[in-house]
Amino acid sequence: MGDWFQVIADPEATADEAGRLAAEVLAWLVERGIVRPERTTCVLGEGGHAPGPNWRVAVTDPDAGLLGLGTNGLGVITGRTVFYSMDLDSVACPYCGSVAVRGPVGSEWDFLPSIESWYAGGSGIRTCDQCGQAVGLNDWRWTPDWAFGHLGFQFWNWPPLDPSFVAEVSHRLGHRTRTPSGKL
Ligand SMILES: [Zn+2]
Repeated sequence: MGDWFQVIADPEATADEAGRLAAEVLAWLVERGIVRPERTTCVLGEGGHAPGPNWRVAVTDPDAGLLGLGTNGLGVITGRTVFYSMDLDSVACPYCGSVAVRGPVGSEWDFLPSIESWYAGGSGIRTCDQCGQAVGLNDWRWTPDWAFGHLGFQFWNWPPLDPSFVAEVSHRLGHRTRTPSGKL
């Protein structure tokens, strides 16, 4: 059985504000009992926050099995990150709608030069082959969601997050968010 992740990614938070926003949202999630305050080894990565007593309010279809899993926490990610979904279907131009890349997995690497440039601190802008518009990585229409930014909340093995919960987190961030997901 693999591990499934969902991320609430904030592509609008700047590098400077990501740490503060991460701490604010985490404090709110702890206060609401959605995650526990202490950091433990409940995520794949550098430690995270296990489900709190009210974790069920964040999801659409609570499954008590979550609590029995070793990997069941929230990882708070700050720093320049490519928030990816595992199964890319297509990447389309927001101006002309033409599809620059269509799956299967691996074909996103057509975007690799732009992603590498963004990761190194550049703009990551890629020009549309069809209409000639210069389009930033976050402006391309990634299906399913990808996001390029400095802040993300990664939930491991939680049932699907409730859209109203995602909207609440977005509201607290003051930014539009994306929700990449995938199974390892
Ligand atoms: Zn175009």
